[in-house]
Amino acid sequence: MEPYAVIAPAPSNAPIGIYIHVPYCSRICPYCDFNVYARLQSQFPDYVDAILNEIDLVAGQQGHREVATVFLGGGTPSLLPSWGHERIMDRLSRRFSIAADAEISMEANPEGLEADYLREIRSAGINRLSIGVQTQQAHGLKVLGRAHKPETPIRGIAAAREAGFDNLSLDFIFGWPGQTLDDWERDLDFILETNPEHASMYSLIIEPNTPYQTAVNRGILVPVDDDMVSEMYEMTLERMATAGWDHYEISNWARAPELRSRHNLIYWRNAEYIALGPGAHGHLSGHRFHNLLLPERYIDAVSRGELPVAESEEIDPATAIAETMMLGLRLTADGVSSLAFERRHGYRMTDIYGETIAYLREIGMLEWNEDSLRLTRAGLLIANEVAERFLDPVLP
Ligand code: SF4
Repeated sequence: MEPYAVIAPAPSNAPIGIYIHVPYCSRICPYCDFNVYARLQSQFPDYVDAILNEIDLVAGQQGHREVATVFLGGGTPSLLPSWGHERIMDRLSRRFSIAADAEISMEANPEGLEADYLREIRSAGINRLSIGVQTQQAHGLKVLGRAHKPETPIRGIAAAREAGFDNLSLDFIFGWPGQTLDDWERDLDFILETNPEHASMYSLIIEPNTPYQTAVNRGILVPVDDDMVSEMYEMTLERMATAGWDHYEISNWARAPELRSRHNLIYWRNAEYIALGPGAHGHLSGHRFHNLLLPERYIDAVSRGELPVAESEEIDPATAIAETMMLGLRLTADGVSSLAFERRHGYRMTDIYGETIAYLREIGMLEWNEDSLRLTRAGLLIANEVAERFLDPVLP
């Protein structure tokens, strides 16, 4: 891997990523606040045509840039038939210069992982799967409103290996209502026994305007208390460290540094990425933007030859600096390099954040690791509060 691929922030001319949002799910999980729609499979042909047209439109402006990663996220991209993935991958490779060793990931739900399908999407060029297992406890799957059973991911993972996928990530959630420490320990056992290349483990957030929030407000669901969630996270840190995993981001572990999620590193290193599909968020040419949310409106706009952008905002230098710090400090192993910071932003990190850094070091939340500033173990447990200190920098 090139040196630029591991240091945060990325230089402004770093290779880009492409994110494609597939906003379809077979049903909507009660805790989900993503831009997703159920029972709209009849829209797949129009959706795929729209993505192909959007690829053409964006390639007209950005086709010269080297693409290091593609990520099909959702929603449930594994609901999209293999012909859809084949057409999308074919068009991407014709219109963009995709690196020969590009990481091409797809999010998948365990219930979609059939052998023929997996072989077809592997042949289309997808080389990494991020599988939403969430929990292997049957009562947890019920509470989370998931459609699969604990045996479904076991079959799906075996089928993925057989189809030639040698880069699998398993996604888990902890802190769901009713979960005990023992439940979470059994899930950690499952991850370690299954031995995927990568694991993402996020604590459940009760998002506004979700059925979960309504149930919590009515007293039907009781969230796990914060102390228990911290205990679960600390158990995760211990178990994964003892097993020798690379804890490279607050919620992400890789079996080895070269197996880190290269696409997500683009976000955390504050590099740029193209976003395609309804509601997709992108970061390009010094702007952050997002596409039209509703699939029908998105499809209409693209079919008229228009870029389906709903909102775009120029990133001023102070915002770019704050984003570098807030995203980069998530990189628990590497942190933010002061040299890369100065090259990217033209200021010394300590000239802008000297007092903040001194204070957070003094109270044991941050540390220097050679040239890089990173969270300490104590800082990791209150990472959001630490990151907030880097909002609103005053430039000299
Ligand atoms: S499968 Fe994922 S994206 Fe779809 S509703 Fe459930 S949590 Fe949301």
